[in-house]
Parts: sequence; structure tokens; C-alpha cells
Amino acid sequence: MTPSPRKLTGEAYLSHVDQTREVDVAIVGAGPAGCAAAIEATRAGYTVEVVDKASAGRDKTCGDGLTTEALRLLEHLGWQPEQCSTARQIDTVMVRAPGGRTVALPLPVGGLQAVTVTRADLDRSLGELAASAGAAVTYDWTVADVAVTTDGVTLLGPDGDKVTASIVLAADGAWSPLRKKLCPPKTPHLGAMHAYRQYVTGFTDDRLWVIFQQDLGAGYVWAFPLGNGIANIGFGIHRQPGVSTKG
Ligand SMILES: Cc1cc2nc3c(=O)[nH]c(=O)nc-3n(C[C@H](O)[C@H](O)[C@H](O)COP(=O)(O)OP(=O)(O)OC[C@H]3O[C@@H](n4cnc5c(N)ncnc54)[C@H](O)[C@@H]3O)c2cc1C
Repeated sequence: MTPSPRKLTGEAYLSHVDQTREVDVAIVGAGPAGCAAAIEATRAGYTVEVVDKASAGRDKTCGDGLTTEALRLLEHLGWQPEQCSTARQIDTVMVRAPGGRTVALPLPVGGLQAVTVTRADLDRSLGELAASAGAAVTYDWTVADVAVTTDGVTLLGPDGDKVTASIVLAADGAWSPLRKKLCPPKTPHLGAMHAYRQYVTGFTDDRLWVIFQQDLGAGYVWAFPLGNGIANIGFGIHRQPGVSTKG
């Protein structure tokens, strides 16, 4: 089901005003994965529509930290921190071992090695980048069902709206409703980690903290500064049979 590449034209855009839109590649989810795929697919000459059930710039439980590798990938997509008012460059990472020993790890100077940015801000900017690359990006559009035909795939959205495509990409998160619809799991899976996150104020440290503790096992606590005294603080714990993550 490989589509014949079509360059985006004004004409192709006009088809998006119809109730049924036809594209080469339909992408479910306008998070980092969906927007990155949309940018690459449009660069390759495919017509693309990304749909997301959330509104533009939605929040997502996340630590808000971008690693060096993530930054290089984002640069390749055309993303720059200047596109996000909440983006902050990080110069030092603090790591605390379970025994209490703390080390400061200054990041190499010259070039961006680590950045914090709220997910609302990052995802909004990535949606804008995908749209400026030529993809149609449609928010508030929940995929209610999917139909696979010999020609491709039809996504059924709100109010009888449809998107048909030769290829569909499920970028709808770790719990992917699309994957569950197309390949229902035999046993329910709750994930390997259980995590909590909160924004706090009054955090004046501009270093990024990662804290390992004996009672968190393979998990850790993080405190990632976002500037203006705001920090994203959270912790993750490993799910294990017989160990409750409640309380
Ligand atoms: C507690 C926590 C902390 C984390 N900290 C970090 C961190 O500091 N740095 C880091 O790089 N990563 C971090 N991660 C991981 C990061 O959040 C994920 O890797 C990332 O969000 C995955 O992006 P994605 O685009 O695949 O999916 P998502 O960001 O989950 O996007 C999926 C999208 O699909 C949409 N969608 C779902 N169902 C439908 C539907 N039926 N119809 C239409 N749209 C739909 C959703 O609205 C959503 O916008 C953390 C994760 C957690 C849970």
C-alpha cells in the first residue's frame, strides 16, 4: 500500500474543506512523534493530515526535559528553542545517588545540550512546524473508529467527518487507542513505570536535578527548572507484581 508521492499544492489544500479528506498519509496524534512524522512525510512529498483529539498546545504529563539527542532530532525538524517562550537552556545536571552523594555535571559549552520546555509549548510549536511544512494539522478531532479497506484506511472522526489515506500512522501515545482497535492486546498492560508530576513555584535553582533513592528502585525523582521560579517535579516508580503503587 505504498502511495505514489504527491507534492502539496494549493489544490490539495482545498480538498481539506470537504467532509471526507483524502491524503497519502494520515497521522493520529499531534504530539512529538506525530508532528515529526508529518514533517518528514511532507518533506518526502506526501500529502499529510495529522489529527488530534486535544486542542492545540495541550498539556501532557511529562518531565519537560529535552536531552541532547532529542535536541539534535528537533533541530533536524527545524525546531529552535526561540519558538517557545518557556524554553530554558540547562548548563548543569545534578545527580544524587541513593547513598546521598551528589555530583554536579557541567554540560559541554558551545551548543545546546539540554533544554527544558513545557509540553504545552513544545507541542504547540511542533504542530505549527508541521503545518508550515505543508501538513494539514487538525485539532479537536477524535478518531472514533478506523476502517481498513483494500485501498487503505479510513479514519472516522467527529460528526461523520472522515480522513482516508493509503497509510495511517498511530502516533497516539503509549496507550494508542488505534493500536488497540487494529490489534487488540491479548492481556491488558499497565506499563512498566508509574509516575507523578507537578508544577511548583519558588524554585530558584537553575540546575536540572535527578535523584535516585533506595525505596524508588529503578525509578527516580526529578526537578527540572522552567525559569521564573517554576519547576516540573515528579517521580517514577517501577511497577512490580505484588507491589502496590497506591498510597
Ligand atoms: C511522567 C513522565 C515524565 C516524562 N518526562 C519526559 C522528559 O522529561 N523528557 C522526554 O523527552 N520525555 C519524557 N517523557 C516521555 C514523553 O512524554 C513521551 O515519550 C512523549 O510524549 C511521546 O510522544 P508521542 O508523540 O509518541 O505521544 P503523546 O505525546 O502521548 O501524543 C499522543 C497524542 O495522541 C492524541 N490522541 C490519542 N488518542 C487519540 C484519538 N483517538 N484521536 C485523536 N488523537 C488522539 C493525544 O491527544 C496526544 O496529543 C515522560 C513521560 C512521563 C509519563
